Amino acid sequence: MVFLVIILAILIGDYLLNLIVDIQNVRYLRTDLPEEFSGYYDREKYRKSQEYLKENTRFGFVTDSITTPVTIGFILFGGFNLIDQFARSFHLSAILTGLIFAGILVFASQILSIPFSIYRTFVIEEKYGFNKTTPKTFVLDIVKTWVLAAVIGGILFSGVLWFFEETGPLAWVYCWIAVTLFQVFLIFIAPVVIMPIFNKFVPLEDGELKSAIEGYAKGQDFKLKGVFTMDGSRRSTKSNAFFTGFGRFRRIVLFDTLIEKHTKDELVSVLAHEMGHYKKRHVLKSIVISILTTGLMFFILSIFINNRELFAAFRMEHTSIYASLFFFGFLYVPIDMILSVFGNMLSRRHEYEADDYAVTTYRKPQSMIAALKKLSVDNLSNLTPHPFKVILTYSHPPVLERIKAIRRLQRVNNDMV
Ligand SMILES: [Zn+2]
Repeated sequence: MVFLVIILAILIGDYLLNLIVDIQNVRYLRTDLPEEFSGYYDREKYRKSQEYLKENTRFGFVTDSITTPVTIGFILFGGFNLIDQFARSFHLSAILTGLIFAGILVFASQILSIPFSIYRTFVIEEKYGFNKTTPKTFVLDIVKTWVLAAVIGGILFSGVLWFFEETGPLAWVYCWIAVTLFQVFLIFIAPVVIMPIFNKFVPLEDGELKSAIEGYAKGQDFKLKGVFTMDGSRRSTKSNAFFTGFGRFRRIVLFDTLIEKHTKDELVSVLAHEMGHYKKRHVLKSIVISILTTGLMFFILSIFINNRELFAAFRMEHTSIYASLFFFGFLYVPIDMILSVFGNMLSRRHEYEADDYAVTTYRKPQSMIAALKKLSVDNLSNLTPHPFKVILTYSHPPVLERIKAIRRLQRVNNDMV
């Protein structure tokens, strides 16, 4: 009974917290354009960017207002027990029974999410001129994601079950080690094996941009393993750039939509920012933190394995390790939220550091600022998010704060252009 109350409190609390923060976030909008963006936004387009935020927020409410009650109903009416009985009716080993149980739950929730995803892509993104996804790409994406998730998720899930079934009280440590090795392996191969399943990566062609990038990288003593362009335009007009992988497979990726809209100096600034993440060891730091949180998660999980009262809250007749993994997931929501607040805080600090690196090494703060502004305008980002929204969900600082920080640097080193 205690666990049922706790889980309902977590589900409803999470729902209400998101609702309150999002309402505050929309109320925080101001109709007048921030001075910094005059010339980049006209009145009409700025209004459109705010409409975009409101529409996404409303859609978020609708989604949560359906999924939260469905989840609660499913728990109260013993849905988990029904699926468990079905999985057990095949009389297979614990691991295979677990795979059937998990497979049905994950598949069902994926099916339920499709209508929301269709609406987001083909109604909202379409209305604001972002959508480039064809129905064919949309369907292929779903199929590819499911196959990948089944393979990767299947391996991880069976591995974790096996350790908890067979290895006794230190199972969580073995799980931690195994999952970490698997994670590192995935990060290592993702740029060459997984990401090309969804997008085409082409080495940046020779020309002014490439020589500018190579010239800059050489000056920074950075061994470029490859700068690639990605066909982001296949799905959306939104633009981005990122750093991925490590060691031999590390690469910097620029969206084709980014290259289209930015000048050479702006693109090198963006790339210098990405390189800054590498030079300041942000990639390594994030991996170490993720490894530590994985350990914490498995340790807490091990406390709740086969907890009879927890199973009673879900109306279950039999305890099992596979179902423990799911039920623990509900208890982990608030812990995850606290961890992600700290994770986002660190990530925002890394963004400032990467901006700092880009500006002090490439020495063209105006181009960095112009690139940030164009990115915000092209993606209709919210220029003035509510501070609570930033604390809870922003992995990047609000753009105006980033620009302010760059201008401060510029004043300190007043020899910059
Ligand atoms: Zn960054």
